[in-house]
Order: sequence, then structure tokens, then C-alpha cells
Amino acid sequence: MKKLLEIKNLKKYYHDISGETLAIDNISLNIYENEFISIVGTSGCGKSTLLSILASLEDKSSGTISFDRNNIKIGYMLQNDSLFPWRNILDNCLIGLEINGKVTDDDKKNVIKLLKKYDLADFIYKYPSELSGGMKQRVALIRTLAINPDILLLDEPLSALDYQTRLSLSDDLYAIIKQEKKTAVMVTHDLGEPKFKKSLFYNNPCIWYSSKSWSRTIPW
Ligand code: ADP
Ligand code: MG
Repeated sequence: MKKLLEIKNLKKYYHDISGETLAIDNISLNIYENEFISIVGTSGCGKSTLLSILASLEDKSSGTISFDRNNIKIGYMLQNDSLFPWRNILDNCLIGLEINGKVTDDDKKNVIKLLKKYDLADFIYKYPSELSGGMKQRVALIRTLAINPDILLLDEPLSALDYQTRLSLSDDLYAIIKQEKKTAVMVTHDLGEPKFKKSLFYNNPCIWYSSKSWSRTIPW
């Protein structure tokens, strides 16, 4: 398998008026192309910090992060859908492309194709308030996919949803990410998260993570 990303001796300290917090202590980790990695760890152990550093939203304190090539595009999907209520679904999905430059007709066609492919054909011109929580998360994923990222970072994408929706959406998200052949890193702190079970089921790598250590073996 081709290595996409190498994280070496990564450390992150936060500083604020209450003092210093060591959020990540010397983590090293390789991520390979087309892997779907679940990262599991207790609340506050530094999972979101790790993703934010990978997405260049936070600076690291020390260590190295190297991608195997330049201009790697990163898609970052957050815990809540963060769709803009005043934009219809299509326009929400185009936002990443808009920020990156001009939206071409082909971009638009491609996003409409994705929305149709993943059962949102009837909602292309509707507004977020007209969609269920699960649908909104699917839109958020399509918005992230629209920029054609090389790696997808998902920070607890199911945790804001009720249990039944999580069950069905975890299958959807997994299927979409696999079909679009993406490398994905999904964070969760919830061992009951369906995707986590599925990850074991499909023999995908699952990383037990804490700010002090990580392993590719679950400690039980
Ligand atoms: P997780 O996502 O695993 O729940 P986080 O990465 O959000 O954990 O946080 C890791 C640690 O860093 C926690 O102790 C948290 O309080 C601290 N932390 C996170 N963000 C900040 C910040 N912006 N400023 C100060 N401390 C922070
Ligand atoms: Mg978090």
C-alpha cells in the first residue's frame, strides 16, 4: 500500500491564561492510500487537535507531518453539518469550490451527480431546514467530497445524531467514502459508534489513541 501521510513525533501544547495543556505527546503514525482509519479515544485525548493540525487549522508544537506529494487536498467534515441555512443544498455543496476559485459548469454537474447518486435528488434546491439530520450530514459529506479531496478527515460525524439515524448513516458514509475511493480518517470517542464496529467487521485499521500513545491494536 502506498503511504500518503507520515506523522513523526508530533507534539502539541496549548497555552492560555490557565497555563499549558499537552494535547498531543509524541505521536507517530503512517496513513496509507485508500485506508479508512477509525481513531478511537477518550474525550479530551487530542483527537480533534490531531485532525485540526492535519488540516493546517492549528500549528503543531514540534514533530513532522509529511505528505507523499505536494498540493494534497484535504476535506474536513465536522461534528455538526455546519450548512448555511440561507443557501440551498446545491449552493451549500459548492461552497468549497467557490472558496477555491471559480465554479465551472462541470463542477456543478459533478455535484448534482453526487447528490443524485446518494439519494438527494429531490432536495437539490431545498434548504437545510427542510432536511433531516441524517440527510444534512450526507450533504455535508458531499460538500466535502465536491473539492475532490485526497484525504478526508471526519471528526465524530455521527455524534450529533440519534441512534437509529447513526446506524443507517454510518452505512451510507462508509459506502460513499469507499465508492469514491477516498482515504479517510474518522475520529470518534464513542465505542458504540456503529462505524467503529463496522471498522472491525471489515478489518479496517482501527487506532486506539490517547495523547500519550496510539496503537493499531485495540486494548481488549
Ligand atoms: P478530543 O477531540 O480528543 O476530545 P481535543 O483535541 O479537543 O480532544 O482536546 C485535547 C486537549 O486540548 C483537551 O485537554 C482540551 O481541553 C485541550 N484544548 C483543545 N483545544 C484547545 C484550545 N484551543 N485552547 C486550549 N486548550 C485546548
Ligand atoms: Mg473532539
